[in-house]
Amino acid sequence: MERANLWTTYSEEQLGELEKLNESYKEFLDCGKTERECIREAVRMAKEAGYQDLDEVLQSGRGLKSGDFVYRVCMEKSIALFQIGEEPIENGMNILGAHVDSPRIDVKQNPLYEAGELSYLDTHYYGGVKKYQWVTLPLAIHGVVVKSDGTKVEIVIGEDEKEPAFVITDLLIHLAQEQMEAKASKVVEGEKLDLLVGNRPLLGEEKEAVKANVRKLLKEKYNIVEEDFVSAELEIVPAGKARDCGIDRSMILAYGQDDRVCAFTSLLAMLEMKNLKKTACCLLVDKEEIGSVGATGMHSRFFENTVAEILNAMGEYSDLKLRRTLANSKMLSSDVSAAFDPMYENVFEKKNAAYFGHGIVFNKYTGSRGKSGSNDANAEYVAYLRHILEKHQVSFQTAELGRVDAGGGGTIAYILANYGMNVIDSGVAVLNMHAPWEVTSKADVYEAYRGYKAFLEG
Ligand code: MN
Ligand code: MN
Repeated sequence: MERANLWTTYSEEQLGELEKLNESYKEFLDCGKTERECIREAVRMAKEAGYQDLDEVLQSGRGLKSGDFVYRVCMEKSIALFQIGEEPIENGMNILGAHVDSPRIDVKQNPLYEAGELSYLDTHYYGGVKKYQWVTLPLAIHGVVVKSDGTKVEIVIGEDEKEPAFVITDLLIHLAQEQMEAKASKVVEGEKLDLLVGNRPLLGEEKEAVKANVRKLLKEKYNIVEEDFVSAELEIVPAGKARDCGIDRSMILAYGQDDRVCAFTSLLAMLEMKNLKKTACCLLVDKEEIGSVGATGMHSRFFENTVAEILNAMGEYSDLKLRRTLANSKMLSSDVSAAFDPMYENVFEKKNAAYFGHGIVFNKYTGSRGKSGSNDANAEYVAYLRHILEKHQVSFQTAELGRVDAGGGGTIAYILANYGMNVIDSGVAVLNMHAPWEVTSKADVYEAYRGYKAFLEG
């Protein structure tokens, strides 16, 4: 079961390809810090690769046939891409799935207030975070404000170094005697994650003059009034770009790699493949971090409805054919896995842990406390994947997310498995997952991309 460190195995040509891929990955991370931004970028890339908007195809009535490339977006937050293969679609599709939402801090609906002559935006964190990690960092605001007439204002403040950034403050160590005794989950409480946005009073204003000044600037710069926060989705994320990490530049340090590392590599693999036997599908979904709920999460009927539209556009729709198409499909449900961390080795079981530089990770099962909530892929399907990856000389490793009873996590795998299709959890290992800045290995990013291409080819 010994597996080589990938860096010792690559040819010069492969190393060149690896660097090029990781440069594009960093660019993708920089222009996709929210689910909406990721989907916008995915659409741009898909169009460039010759994909057509499914809804336009449907409206034109021109139908779909083998060799066609289409995509469909759900509410700007999730996307499904299809490449119609040569074989009957009823034989099943090869599906790559990943999520594009990441842990972050959201602005509340009535957020703006003043206290101690400082102005703040009140927030509610999104997803599983160690709250104490999000204080005293440069932060940016990304999102949309939709005015009552339907006009949408896109907001990004804090990424350009000429723009201001934001911060969530923490108590100075000198006065933190009591705080330092608290449990880590209580050190910084949820309601203390408010964003500092101003300190300068508006001249001539007597009450809450700092808040009044912020209100004035929002109106001047973005044409936003305070009531508009009600219909806004503003996400607070770490400010700054994805960077190489380490003196050897072997890793990537960036926000939101869970799960954009799998989303980007799945998408690129999908867009680069042509002339496939089986129909290919790439699904990038929202809301995984809060249980895959909502219209744009994996539990939504969006995917199933879109497959029905595809069958219909091919002139092949029936309820039975739809069910067969889904049940006969195979899926790589890709999400990040915990990379072995020598600083915290007691939460890992070394023989069944994922290591940087050892390739795409397969988690036969995830879950916690006796595999609870896990998809647990079939041995037959794992054997099939082993065969494919060996055939294409792609390196993979198998792992569990930590040692038995150390914790656990969920993904979107079990949701697609409900159709009766073969699904496995796969993905890329990450250090300090869900922290503002996460770390991955460039070799694993490259190997995931190669693995996804191999899977689509079969
Ligand atoms: Mn994830
Ligand atoms: Mn996650």
